[in-house]
Amino acid sequence: MSIAILPSASYREDLLARASRVIPGGASAGGRAVYGDVITRARGAYLWNADGKRYIDHLNAYGPIVIGHSDPRVNGAVADTVARVDLNWVGPQAGEVELAERIVAAVPSADKVVFMNTGTDALQHSLHVARAATGRQRVFKFHGHYHGWAGALGVGASFDVAPGDAPPTHATNSGGSEEGIAASVDVVDWNDAAATRAAFAAHGDGYAAAFLEPYLHSYTNAAPVPGFLELLRELCDHYGVVLVFDEVKTGFRHHLGGYQAVAGVTPDLTALGKSLGNGYAVAALAGRADLMDRLGTEVTIDGSYYASPYGLAAGIATFDVLADGGVERLWALGERLRQGLERAIHDAGVTANVTGIGSGWIINWRAEPPVTFRQAVDADFERAEAFRLAMLDGGILLPPYVITDARINLAFTEDDVDETIAVARRALKRVR
Ligand code: PMP
Repeated sequence: MSIAILPSASYREDLLARASRVIPGGASAGGRAVYGDVITRARGAYLWNADGKRYIDHLNAYGPIVIGHSDPRVNGAVADTVARVDLNWVGPQAGEVELAERIVAAVPSADKVVFMNTGTDALQHSLHVARAATGRQRVFKFHGHYHGWAGALGVGASFDVAPGDAPPTHATNSGGSEEGIAASVDVVDWNDAAATRAAFAAHGDGYAAAFLEPYLHSYTNAAPVPGFLELLRELCDHYGVVLVFDEVKTGFRHHLGGYQAVAGVTPDLTALGKSLGNGYAVAALAGRADLMDRLGTEVTIDGSYYASPYGLAAGIATFDVLADGGVERLWALGERLRQGLERAIHDAGVTANVTGIGSGWIINWRAEPPVTFRQAVDADFERAEAFRLAMLDGGILLPPYVITDARINLAFTEDDVDETIAVARRALKRVR
């Protein structure tokens, strides 16, 4: 009898093989599957895969991890809460009142706040409120602005993005008829004032709401051009449209009051999530009292897990760390990183540039920083992907698609930032 000696798979390989048998695509999202990796430990600025390889994490779960992985202050607050209480459906939670008061004090548009689990929840509820308030159905939004995966808001990140290393378009994410959905949504290029005016002139009377990321993060990092947010405010006022800022990525991370506090333009409703809970599932919809008061009466808000004591405890702890100098430190670290990367790109003689604010950053593989989404996807995707893989090789984890944004967290030290820049210098030489 002969015994076949098989090479033993690593723990990581074993988990991936088993995942491919029982999970469609091998992970519960395409963007997770593309890594071909499994993370089994996380702390501060770092992730470790199942084979013990360490990465400096610039994905940060697409935004939620803001003060650091497995932060003991957040985990401690959650553990204290778990020891006292668990999920119940009786009245407001104590933590709900405390976190709502913090948000009302910090976010300009927030007269009132409700809590749910995900950014998608917050945006769907904002659409329901806007439709109830206006009696209208149609929606206005921008290409490249991601507002969650459900229904009408899942439309509109296209513009012929190249296949392969490009992000999903989200155009058919609802799983329903794209034509049916698209008929009620107008999608315009970011920062295109003429197209925005034209869309409002044609359909402004029919819009329930206009949705935007007030600083575009989801696909590239692109600030609003001067006057653009003011134009939207003006058009929404003129046509009686509810202005919704999607601050799921910008909220708390860049300013406790959100990007609206930075820009000085106040929306009617604000969707918040991600950085609110440092990785725990908590999100919020905030806004004008007359709109918010429709919730729970005219407009349903009934999630089984909404306002869970665990998420609220995480939210309070995270907010307080960010309020205690955390946001300022994130900006300083982000600035150091962006400047270092700019210098590295310049020294390597590569055609690329860095955009971003606060803790956020992205390298755009084109001559000029993109202002519109159309420009963002007009980039050297091949070189971008080669750079991403070289960074991964050097222990720097970046987002899996070339025009999706990266970010650091508050646990980063100057050394982590400098190590990232040093690895980027080597990676840039390889892709030049
Ligand atoms: N809006 C923006 C700007 C986002 O980046 C995301 C998530 N990437 C969402 C909404 C949806 O949030 P969630 O994944 O928590 O549903």
